[in-house]
Amino acid sequence: MPAAFFGHGNPMNAISDNRYTAAWRSFGASVPRPRAILVVSAHWYINATAVTAMPRPRTIHDFYGFPRELFEVEYPAPGMPELATEISDIVKPTWIGADADSWGIDHGTWSVLVHAFPDASIPVAQLSINADKPLDYHLALGAKLHELRSRGVLVVTSGNVVHNLRGMDWERTDEGFDWAQRFDEAARERMLTAPTDLASLDAHRDYAHAVPTPDHFIPALYLAGLADAAGQASDTKVLIDGYAYGSLSMTAYTLGADCPVAEAAGGSPRTATTAPPDSANI
Ligand code: ZN
Repeated sequence: MPAAFFGHGNPMNAISDNRYTAAWRSFGASVPRPRAILVVSAHWYINATAVTAMPRPRTIHDFYGFPRELFEVEYPAPGMPELATEISDIVKPTWIGADADSWGIDHGTWSVLVHAFPDASIPVAQLSINADKPLDYHLALGAKLHELRSRGVLVVTSGNVVHNLRGMDWERTDEGFDWAQRFDEAARERMLTAPTDLASLDAHRDYAHAVPTPDHFIPALYLAGLADAAGQASDTKVLIDGYAYGSLSMTAYTLGADCPVAEAAGGSPRTATTAPPDSANI
């Protein structure tokens, strides 16, 4: 089974039709039907490592100030409680808790899956990001998830390599600041050639601007770990790239996927044009 990292950007992408959502659709259409989808989302950033284990995960609208239409989006995929047990066994001795009732499917997950797997018929589980752990922990845990690929589980990670909400400029709908481009390009070089080096990007001169908090960057480390575990035969590609509002990168990567690469940045239609509200949690 392939794996992927998606730059999800503005939640309005969930109800938009643009070059990013087209690439996400194209990825979903290219993969064999998974037994389940495990998602590492930037928006489940807590003080523990946990996996959802409820049979019917709720759709979480974890933002405010957006149009009603976005709050009405539901992603009614079933859960797969037994997958939590399976994952706990695979990653031992790392401990993962089973979450039976607190989380569900957040917008980092559903804003992408409504495009990639629109019929919501494949079971979905989420893996939390443990905010107490260093970058290396997430890289190593990503590598441990490698086993899931041969068990028919699609591992999807969702964040943004560059994600600085305070630095957003609404006028720059499809542009990236110089520092955002430098950091995204450095991340790309590592992801495609030496994925474990992604975890040392905290020494990059633009890290403080690009990654003011690590929640949206860490999902990329899970894909880097998976790529490393796949070894020399690993096959990581850029699915699509681009920037939004100056301070977000929308770059997405696939691993082991047979999916056409999207058109170059600059084409149209473009990203979601409804600007997120000030201090939005996107
Ligand atoms: Zn987000």
